[in-house]
Amino acid sequence: MNLNCEETYKRMQDYLDRELSPREMALVKDHLDSCGICSEEFEFELRVLRKIGRTLSDTEIPSDLVERVFASLGSS
Ligand SMILES: [Zn+2]
Repeated sequence: MNLNCEETYKRMQDYLDRELSPREMALVKDHLDSCGICSEEFEFELRVLRKIGRTLSDTEIPSDLVERVFASLGSS
């Protein structure tokens, strides 16, 4: 069984959070390895996550920064 792009995209967030079963993790990884579109999207999500992680570790979060992050998510 192979995932298509839509199925991969639906699981991407859980994949990033490592909340999928090992079987599903492997299916998503297989698709990302073979699909340039999804692997690019995955890299983007990863960068955003890291940015948010750094932001949350700071003591103060500028409210406009959070808005910009969500705006950039919506505009892709
Ligand atoms: Zn794909």
